[in-house]
Amino acid sequence: MKKPVRIVITGGAGQIAYALAFRIAAGEMLGTDQPVILHLLEIPNALDALKGIVMELEDCAYPLLQDIVMTEEVKVAFTDVDYALLVGARPRGPGMERNDLLRVNGDIFTVQGKALNEYANPRVKVLVVGNPANTNAYIAMQSAPNLSPQQFSAMTRLDHNRAVSQLAIKLGVPVTAINQVIIWGNHSATQYPDINHALVHNQSALALVDQNWINHDFIPSVQQRGAAIINIRGKSSAASAAFAAMAHLRDWVSGTDAWVSMAVPSDGSYGIAEKLIYSFPVTIKDGEYHIVPALEINELSHARMQASQQELEQERAAITDLLC
Ligand code: NDP
Repeated sequence: MKKPVRIVITGGAGQIAYALAFRIAAGEMLGTDQPVILHLLEIPNALDALKGIVMELEDCAYPLLQDIVMTEEVKVAFTDVDYALLVGARPRGPGMERNDLLRVNGDIFTVQGKALNEYANPRVKVLVVGNPANTNAYIAMQSAPNLSPQQFSAMTRLDHNRAVSQLAIKLGVPVTAINQVIIWGNHSATQYPDINHALVHNQSALALVDQNWINHDFIPSVQQRGAAIINIRGKSSAASAAFAAMAHLRDWVSGTDAWVSMAVPSDGSYGIAEKLIYSFPVTIKDGEYHIVPALEINELSHARMQASQQELEQERAAITDLLC
């Protein structure tokens, strides 16, 4: 039997965590031969709800789940963790401006970044889901000077999956026929879902769909998918977000030759400012991701990629003083 790994999920009583914890405990993220210890962090007001979830987890009698640590203390939550899924974040309240939201969450992610730096396994892999995810990941990364920036990421995998699925539905092909779809940029409405390099059964997607559909249907529907689900369901997406988070970490650990989208600190690729947490196409080997290099970028794509970069730079400017 393998040694158990410790996984922290913040916002443990939230709806994404509820969709996540049970599947991780069942072995869906790291494999059915990998025992896990779940650390669940919540704010004091949500601890009762969290207790109920812990009771349900116990009632599943998962063979892989060796222990559950339920806590409101950041130090306890982050001690010795191998994987950190930072899901909890403050939602935008009535009358709250975007910059207020950035700053409130900035405080949370500064504390959590410092705790990762101090208490986590030095090889911890961090995925930020809580919004604004890219900038929250940037703050955590900058608050953890002893960890490598490459250990921090934010989730654009749900956007990626949405893009793959929309293309598959349009063409009437299985999702497995599609590769090389890209989400560039911020996990926000400025993200750029790009199928200029996508392959469908190894044939260029561009030969199969017209530009009008890409610009007026595909791109906006991927960008606005979260809002569309809230409008119809009355709640934000949770199961699909949890599934994407698991896929993100599973691939990061196990590797993939297929292109997946991950928001990671820019190394300057494609002219994106260094260290911004920006979504790129990556492949993954031996636990390390590699940004797909040297893709040809047309003028239209360049403009969209720049627009998302600009938004991330504005977000960064709004929180810079928190990092001093
Ligand atoms: P959810 O579990 O639905 O969402 C959690 C976060 O994920 C939100 O910031 C949400 O952003 C974000 N998110 C990212 N991608 C997606 C996506 N594709 N679809 C939906 N959400 C996405 O929120 P809940 O309100 O149910 O739960 C949050 C929990 O976090 C609460 O229990 C709260 O107490 C806790 N919390 C914990 C903290 C901590 O552990 N220190 C700090 C703050 C809160 P968006 O809001 O933009 O949809």
